[in-house]
Amino acid sequence: MTGARGWTLAAFCAVVAVLLGSCGGSSAPPSVQDSPTPTVSASTPAQPSSKPSTTPVRRPGESRARTLMPIVQHGPRDKPRIALTFDADLTTAMRRRLHSGQVKSYYNEALIQHLRDLRVPATLFLTGLWMEQYPDRTRELAADPLFELATHSYDHRAFTKRCYTLGTVPRAGMLTDVRRAVTILDELDPQATRWFRFPGGCYDGTALHELAPAAVTAVGLDVPGADGFAKSSESIVGQVLQNARNGSIVVLHMHGGDNAPLTDEAIPSIVKSLRLRGYELVTVTELMAG
Ligand SMILES: [Zn+2]
Repeated sequence: MTGARGWTLAAFCAVVAVLLGSCGGSSAPPSVQDSPTPTVSASTPAQPSSKPSTTPVRRPGESRARTLMPIVQHGPRDKPRIALTFDADLTTAMRRRLHSGQVKSYYNEALIQHLRDLRVPATLFLTGLWMEQYPDRTRELAADPLFELATHSYDHRAFTKRCYTLGTVPRAGMLTDVRRAVTILDELDPQATRWFRFPGGCYDGTALHELAPAAVTAVGLDVPGADGFAKSSESIVGQVLQNARNGSIVVLHMHGGDNAPLTDEAIPSIVKSLRLRGYELVTVTELMAG
């Protein structure tokens, strides 16, 4: 699983990310509705239940310890391996639509079935609200050796002030939010990883600082699958195939419903095409372990 090498890379990338200020979030994107997990994304390093010894990163030149949440953007570029990841968003607004019957389900079962049929390992990033809505599904996914589970915040609010149309987690509540999601996941999955993905892919130095004690590692933006509110499965397939390369972490969504309605239609073509090109599909933990 993610060994010392992975964490070293994580630490390195974290420093780079902070210095360059690169992150999906700060610049405000298109107008998407509640659960934008749209075209931007980030992901987290998975550390199995053997609680990862996350070593928070210290910015170079800082004499006083200002630790930051580690973040990885992609895996090694010298090996033909790619990690497909799927976020399960659920905001309070989405939950209202679900409970009112406006949306039938925020679990794209067809997508998960495709992954199982095609034997595709995947890393699933779940919001706390989603796990509370689907605890049995979460346990079922946790028990499937194809998948590893990670967190995606509690209720899919953003960790920066401007991030699509997402609500914002106040600075004072950031750590509590992430820990809440981690606690829920740990109760449902004894093998839970410590990878984390920022909602909307939005983060900044403040968020990385506030979340350092959470002992999770964020996975930054690499290949957004563009399946959020997609109008055709072909566009999703094209977006992934045009941008995937060695070490890529592809971000797609598993909540389906009105927010990501075509991901299941796109995934068979994506998987088959990537494999035809010689890529091995692995989890984020496997990717980062080298
Ligand atoms: Zn999301």
